[in-house]
Amino acid sequence: MRQLIRNISIFDGTGAAPFAGAVLVEDDRIAAVLRDDAAIASATADTVIDGHGGTLMPGLVDAHTHLTWGSSVEKIYHQFILPPEELKVAAWRNARVLLDHGFTSAYSAGALGDGIETELARAIDAGQTPGPRLIPSTLERSPEGVEGVETGDVFNGRGPDAMRAFIAYCAAEGVRSVKLVISGEDALKPGSAQDIIYTDAEMQAAGEAARDAGLWIATHVYTPRAIAMALEAGARILYHCSFADAAAIDAMVANKDTIFYAPGPGVSVAALEASPPPHIDMSAMKASAAQRLELEARLVPELRRRGVRVLIGGDYGFPFNPNGRNARDLEHFVTHYGFTPAEALSSATMLGGQLMGQGDELGLVREGFIADLLLIDGDPTTDVTILQDAARIAMIMQGGRLHKAPASQPVTA
Ligand SMILES: [Zn+2]
Repeated sequence: MRQLIRNISIFDGTGAAPFAGAVLVEDDRIAAVLRDDAAIASATADTVIDGHGGTLMPGLVDAHTHLTWGSSVEKIYHQFILPPEELKVAAWRNARVLLDHGFTSAYSAGALGDGIETELARAIDAGQTPGPRLIPSTLERSPEGVEGVETGDVFNGRGPDAMRAFIAYCAAEGVRSVKLVISGEDALKPGSAQDIIYTDAEMQAAGEAARDAGLWIATHVYTPRAIAMALEAGARILYHCSFADAAAIDAMVANKDTIFYAPGPGVSVAALEASPPPHIDMSAMKASAAQRLELEARLVPELRRRGVRVLIGGDYGFPFNPNGRNARDLEHFVTHYGFTPAEALSSATMLGGQLMGQGDELGLVREGFIADLLLIDGDPTTDVTILQDAARIAMIMQGGRLHKAPASQPVTA
C-alpha cells in the first residue's frame, strides 16, 4: 500500500525551515521525501492525498502523560480518584483524545490505577483501540506515610528491598517506565518540594533493579539534592527541576546524552488561569505555579542552550488542565522559555522520538522513519497555537494508517 501526500510544505522535525515537497508512505514507513517536481510527478501510489498547501509534520509526543487522570476536553471529573471501572473507561478515552489532538506517542508519568496502562498499551499496539504509542507505567511511587497514597506493601514500603520488590512487580506487569516521586509537591503540601522522600540506599536499589530489569525511571524532582539522586539512579527523564542551582544544572548538562527534561509548564499556567468555585482552595497551587514559572524562565533556556533535551508535557488530566489540551505546552515553551516555534516543535517531535527510545525511526519526516504524520491547516512554525485546535489538524496518520482522513477524500490514482 503506497500513499503519496503532495501539495504540502514539510516541517521535518529537526527544526529546519519547512520546504515544499511530497512524501511517499509505503505500508507503515516513509518510503521517500521528494523535493523536486519531476520526482513528485513520476511517483506512483495507490492513493494520493492532496495537502492543499498545508504543513506536513511528525506526530507530536507528550513526555509527561497521565491518561488515568480522568479529565479531558470531552469530560471533566471533579473527583480525582475514580472507581476502577470508570478509571479504565477514562484512560481508554483519554488515549483516543490525545491521538485526536495529534499526539501519536506518549510517555507515561505514572498512573492512578494498577495494570491499566500496560493493558491499554497492548491494546493500542494491537490496533484494538486508538491511542498514542504508549510507554506504560504504574502507580506513582512515594514511600509509606509521605504522600498519603496507601496502595500496599509492594508500592510504598520502605527500604532497598521494598524498592527491588516494586521494580520486580512492575517488570512482571509489563511496565516500561517506573515513576518515582523523590521530591514533595508544594501544590499539594506547601513547603514539601524541598523534602527528599527517599533515602540514598532506596534510590540506589531502585536504580540497580531498574537497570537489571530493563526498565526506565521517570522522576518527580525539584531540588538540587533530588536531581542528584535521580541522576545517580540513572533516571531517563526528570520532571520539574524548578529549584536547580548552578551545580545541579552542571550535573544535568554532564548527563545530557542520557537524560531528558520536561519542566511541565502546562499545569502551572492552567493553575494560574483557573477560577475554581469557592469550596475549592487552589491558593497553594497558584502560588507554587507562579514561583515555578518564574524560576523556570531562567532555568529552562540555560539547560536548552547547554544541550539538555527539553520536552513538552505538562501534567494534563486535572479538571482545570484537561487531557487534550497538551499542545498548549508548545505555546508555553515559546512564551515562558524563549523557544522559537520551530524549536518547540522539534522538542515535541524529534526529541520525543528519542525519548520513546526510537530516535532512529520516530519523530522525523525522513526516509525509513515510521509514518506518524500530521497535516496541518496553516504553518505551525510561525504560530504554534494552531495545534491547539484539533479542527486545524486535517490528517492524523499513525504507522501509515489514517486515524483522521483529510476532509477531501483521497483520490485513487
Ligand atoms: Zn505528573
